[in-house]
Amino acid sequence: MRIDILTIFPDMFRGFLDESILKRAQTKGLVEILTHNLREFSGDKRKSVDDYAFGGGAGMVMMPQPIVDCIEGLQKEREYDEVIYLSPDGELLTQALANKLSMKKNIMMLCGRYKGIDQRVRDGWITREISIGDYVLSGGELPAAVLTDAIVRIIPGVLSDESSALLDSFQGELLDAPVYTRPADFRGMKVPEVLMGGDHAQIEEWRLQASAEKTRNRRPDM
Ligand code: SAM
Repeated sequence: MRIDILTIFPDMFRGFLDESILKRAQTKGLVEILTHNLREFSGDKRKSVDDYAFGGGAGMVMMPQPIVDCIEGLQKEREYDEVIYLSPDGELLTQALANKLSMKKNIMMLCGRYKGIDQRVRDGWITREISIGDYVLSGGELPAAVLTDAIVRIIPGVLSDESSALLDSFQGELLDAPVYTRPADFRGMKVPEVLMGGDHAQIEEWRLQASAEKTRNRRPDM
Protein backbone atom coordinates (compact mmCIF):
# COMPACT_ATOMS: atom_id res chain seq x y z
CA MET A 1 0.00 0.00 0.00
CA ARG A 2 1.09 3.56 -0.68
CA ILE A 3 -0.07 6.66 1.19
CA ASP A 4 0.75 10.17 -0.10
CA ILE A 5 0.19 13.01 2.37
CA LEU A 6 -0.22 16.56 1.01
CA THR A 7 0.60 19.22 3.58
CA ILE A 8 2.31 22.55 4.16
CA PHE A 9 3.98 21.08 7.26
CA PRO A 10 5.69 17.83 6.18
CA ASP A 11 8.08 17.98 9.15
CA MET A 12 5.14 17.38 11.49
CA PHE A 13 5.12 13.75 10.28
CA ARG A 14 8.80 13.06 10.88
CA GLY A 15 8.75 11.66 14.41
CA PHE A 16 5.41 9.99 13.90
CA LEU A 17 6.44 8.08 10.76
CA ASP A 18 9.91 7.22 12.03
CA GLU A 19 8.96 5.37 15.21
CA SER A 20 7.34 2.16 16.37
CA ILE A 21 4.70 0.33 14.31
CA LEU A 22 4.61 2.88 11.48
CA LYS A 23 8.36 2.65 11.06
CA ARG A 24 8.32 -1.15 11.16
CA ALA A 25 5.55 -1.32 8.55
CA GLN A 26 7.63 0.83 6.18
CA THR A 27 10.86 -1.06 6.87
CA LYS A 28 9.08 -4.37 6.14
CA GLY A 29 7.91 -2.89 2.83
CA LEU A 30 4.24 -3.30 3.75
CA VAL A 31 3.48 0.38 3.28
CA GLU A 32 5.15 3.35 1.61
CA ILE A 33 4.29 6.72 3.12
CA LEU A 34 5.37 9.93 1.41
CA THR A 35 4.80 13.55 2.33
CA HIS A 36 4.55 16.35 -0.24
CA ASN A 37 5.07 19.99 0.63
CA LEU A 38 2.30 21.97 -1.03
CA ARG A 39 4.43 25.13 -0.92
CA GLU A 40 6.68 23.57 -3.54
CA PHE A 41 3.71 23.62 -5.92
CA SER A 42 2.96 27.30 -5.36
CA GLY A 43 3.09 29.36 -8.51
CA ASP A 44 4.43 32.53 -6.88
CA LYS A 45 7.83 33.66 -5.64
CA ARG A 46 6.78 33.86 -1.99
CA LYS A 47 5.55 30.26 -2.11
CA SER A 48 2.12 31.30 -0.82
CA VAL A 49 -0.61 28.71 -0.62
CA ASP A 50 -3.45 30.81 0.84
CA ASP A 51 -5.43 33.92 -0.04
CA TYR A 52 -8.33 36.03 1.24
CA ALA A 53 -11.83 34.56 1.13
CA PHE A 54 -14.15 35.89 -1.57
CA GLY A 55 -17.02 37.67 0.15
CA GLY A 56 -14.76 38.80 3.01
CA GLY A 57 -14.72 37.60 6.60
CA ALA A 58 -12.01 36.39 8.93
CA GLY A 59 -9.51 33.74 7.90
CA MET A 60 -7.56 32.73 4.82
CA VAL A 61 -8.40 29.97 2.36
CA MET A 62 -6.02 27.47 0.74
CA MET A 63 -5.73 28.24 -2.97
CA PRO A 64 -6.70 25.56 -5.50
CA GLN A 65 -3.67 25.73 -7.82
CA PRO A 66 -0.89 24.26 -5.59
CA ILE A 67 -3.21 21.52 -4.34
CA VAL A 68 -4.53 20.53 -7.75
CA ASP A 69 -1.03 20.60 -9.32
CA CYS A 70 0.20 18.26 -6.59
CA ILE A 71 -2.80 15.90 -6.87
CA GLU A 72 -2.64 15.75 -10.67
CA GLY A 73 1.13 15.25 -10.68
CA LEU A 74 0.72 12.19 -8.47
CA GLN A 75 -2.25 10.91 -10.48
CA LYS A 76 -0.10 10.97 -13.63
CA GLU A 77 2.22 8.45 -12.00
CA ARG A 78 -0.34 5.97 -10.65
CA GLU A 79 -4.04 5.41 -10.10
CA TYR A 80 -5.40 6.40 -6.67
CA ASP A 81 -8.27 4.56 -5.00
CA GLU A 82 -9.12 7.57 -2.85
CA VAL A 83 -8.16 11.25 -2.63
CA ILE A 84 -9.14 12.02 0.96
CA TYR A 85 -9.60 15.49 2.44
CA LEU A 86 -9.42 15.54 6.23
CA SER A 87 -12.21 17.84 7.33
CA PRO A 88 -14.30 18.35 10.49
CA ASP A 89 -17.50 18.23 8.39
CA GLY A 90 -16.56 14.91 6.75
CA GLU A 91 -17.73 11.37 7.41
CA LEU A 92 -16.75 10.31 10.93
CA LEU A 93 -13.74 7.95 11.09
CA THR A 94 -14.73 4.54 12.45
CA GLN A 95 -12.94 1.20 12.73
CA ALA A 96 -15.12 -0.10 9.88
CA LEU A 97 -13.93 2.72 7.61
CA ALA A 98 -10.28 2.17 8.62
CA ASN A 99 -10.67 -1.56 7.85
CA LYS A 100 -12.08 -0.72 4.43
CA LEU A 101 -9.31 1.77 3.60
CA SER A 102 -6.59 -0.65 4.74
CA MET A 103 -7.48 -2.85 1.75
CA LYS A 104 -6.79 -0.10 -0.81
CA LYS A 105 -3.61 0.16 -2.88
CA ASN A 106 -2.97 3.90 -3.26
CA ILE A 107 -4.43 6.64 -1.08
CA MET A 108 -3.85 10.39 -1.02
CA MET A 109 -4.57 12.44 2.12
CA LEU A 110 -4.91 16.21 1.91
CA CYS A 111 -4.33 18.26 5.06
CA GLY A 112 -6.12 21.59 5.20
CA ARG A 113 -5.06 24.68 7.14
CA TYR A 114 -6.57 28.14 7.76
CA LYS A 115 -10.36 28.23 7.01
CA GLY A 116 -9.89 25.13 4.85
CA ILE A 117 -9.45 24.54 1.12
CA ASP A 118 -11.24 26.20 -1.82
CA GLN A 119 -14.59 24.43 -2.31
CA ARG A 120 -13.81 23.78 -6.00
CA VAL A 121 -11.03 21.35 -5.02
CA ARG A 122 -13.50 19.47 -2.85
CA ASP A 123 -16.03 19.37 -5.69
CA GLY A 124 -13.61 18.39 -8.43
CA TRP A 125 -10.78 16.29 -7.00
CA ILE A 126 -11.66 14.91 -3.57
CA THR A 127 -13.29 11.46 -3.51
CA ARG A 128 -13.87 11.19 0.25
CA GLU A 129 -13.92 13.57 3.22
CA ILE A 130 -13.11 12.24 6.69
CA SER A 131 -13.42 13.78 10.14
CA ILE A 132 -11.70 12.38 13.23
CA GLY A 133 -14.29 13.87 15.59
CA ASP A 134 -16.68 16.69 16.30
CA TYR A 135 -14.09 19.30 17.21
CA VAL A 136 -11.89 21.62 15.15
CA LEU A 137 -8.09 21.36 15.05
CA SER A 138 -5.71 23.89 13.52
CA GLY A 139 -4.82 21.64 10.59
CA GLY A 140 -5.32 18.29 8.91
CA GLU A 141 -1.87 16.92 9.86
CA LEU A 142 -2.92 15.29 13.15
CA PRO A 143 -6.11 13.88 11.57
CA ALA A 144 -4.02 12.46 8.67
CA ALA A 145 -1.63 10.93 11.21
CA VAL A 146 -4.57 9.39 13.10
CA LEU A 147 -6.05 8.00 9.90
CA THR A 148 -2.67 6.64 8.74
CA ASP A 149 -2.10 4.87 12.05
CA ALA A 150 -5.63 3.40 12.10
CA ILE A 151 -5.15 2.05 8.55
CA VAL A 152 -1.56 0.82 8.73
CA ARG A 153 -1.73 -1.10 12.03
CA ILE A 154 -4.35 -3.48 10.59
CA ILE A 155 -2.53 -4.26 7.33
CA PRO A 156 -1.70 -8.00 7.55
CA GLY A 157 1.88 -8.50 8.74
CA VAL A 158 2.29 -5.10 10.41
CA LEU A 159 1.55 -6.18 13.99
CA SER A 160 3.62 -9.06 15.31
CA ASP A 161 0.44 -10.67 16.71
CA GLU A 162 -2.36 -9.93 14.27
CA SER A 163 -5.03 -11.52 16.43
CA SER A 164 -4.44 -8.72 18.95
CA ALA A 165 -5.81 -6.08 16.55
CA LEU A 166 -8.81 -8.24 15.73
CA LEU A 167 -9.81 -8.34 19.40
CA ASP A 168 -9.52 -4.57 19.90
CA SER A 169 -12.53 -2.45 20.79
CA PHE A 170 -14.80 -1.66 17.80
CA GLN A 171 -13.64 -4.63 15.70
CA GLY A 172 -16.68 -6.46 17.04
CA GLU A 173 -19.70 -5.33 19.02
CA LEU A 174 -17.87 -5.12 22.35
CA LEU A 175 -15.18 -2.94 23.92
CA ASP A 176 -11.93 -4.73 24.75
CA ALA A 177 -11.61 -6.45 28.16
CA PRO A 178 -9.33 -5.07 30.92
CA VAL A 179 -5.69 -6.22 30.68
CA TYR A 180 -3.07 -6.88 33.38
CA THR A 181 0.65 -7.71 33.51
CA ARG A 182 3.20 -8.44 36.26
CA PRO A 183 3.34 -8.08 39.20
CA ALA A 184 0.30 -10.10 40.24
CA ASP A 185 -0.01 -7.88 43.31
CA PHE A 186 0.67 -4.17 42.83
CA ARG A 187 0.39 -2.18 46.04
CA GLY A 188 -2.29 -4.53 47.30
CA MET A 189 -4.27 -4.42 44.03
CA LYS A 190 -4.55 -8.00 42.78
CA VAL A 191 -4.97 -9.39 39.26
CA PRO A 192 -8.25 -11.37 38.93
CA GLU A 193 -7.51 -14.95 40.02
CA VAL A 194 -9.00 -16.52 36.88
CA LEU A 195 -6.37 -14.89 34.63
CA MET A 196 -3.57 -16.67 36.47
CA GLY A 197 -5.17 -20.11 36.58
CA GLY A 198 -4.23 -21.21 33.04
CA ASP A 199 -7.75 -22.47 32.19
CA HIS A 200 -8.22 -20.94 28.73
CA ALA A 201 -11.95 -21.59 28.49
CA GLN A 202 -12.51 -19.89 31.85
CA ILE A 203 -10.26 -16.98 30.85
CA GLU A 204 -12.19 -16.50 27.58
CA GLU A 205 -15.48 -16.57 29.48
CA TRP A 206 -14.18 -14.00 32.02
CA ARG A 207 -12.98 -11.70 29.20
CA LEU A 208 -16.29 -11.95 27.40
CA GLN A 209 -18.23 -11.08 30.55
CA ALA A 210 -15.86 -8.20 31.38
CA SER A 211 -16.14 -6.85 27.81
CA ALA A 212 -19.92 -7.07 27.89
CA GLU A 213 -20.10 -5.28 31.24
CA LYS A 214 -17.75 -2.50 30.14
CA THR A 215 -19.70 -2.03 26.89
CA ARG A 216 -23.03 -1.88 28.77
CA ASN A 217 -21.64 0.72 31.18
CA ARG A 218 -19.68 2.90 28.79
CA ARG A 219 -21.22 2.46 25.37
CA PRO A 220 -24.80 1.23 25.67
CA ASP A 221 -25.30 2.58 22.13
CA MET A 222 -23.03 -0.15 20.63
N1 SAM B 1 -13.44 26.19 8.77
C1 SAM B 1 -13.39 24.78 8.94
C2 SAM B 1 -14.71 24.29 9.50
O1 SAM B 1 -15.26 24.95 10.37
O2 SAM B 1 -15.17 23.20 9.10
C3 SAM B 1 -12.27 24.36 9.88
C4 SAM B 1 -10.90 24.58 9.33
S1 SAM B 1 -9.67 23.94 10.39
C5 SAM B 1 -9.21 25.32 11.32
C6 SAM B 1 -8.28 23.74 9.33
C7 SAM B 1 -8.08 22.33 8.79
O3 SAM B 1 -7.89 21.42 9.85
C8 SAM B 1 -9.21 21.73 7.98
O4 SAM B 1 -9.15 22.17 6.65
C9 SAM B 1 -8.99 20.25 8.11
O5 SAM B 1 -8.07 19.78 7.15
C10 SAM B 1 -8.34 20.13 9.49
N2 SAM B 1 -9.23 19.65 10.56
C11 SAM B 1 -9.60 20.34 11.66
N3 SAM B 1 -10.39 19.64 12.46
C12 SAM B 1 -10.53 18.43 11.89
C13 SAM B 1 -11.24 17.23 12.22
N4 SAM B 1 -11.97 17.16 13.32
N5 SAM B 1 -11.15 16.17 11.40
C14 SAM B 1 -10.43 16.23 10.27
N6 SAM B 1 -9.75 17.33 9.87
C15 SAM B 1 -9.79 18.42 10.67
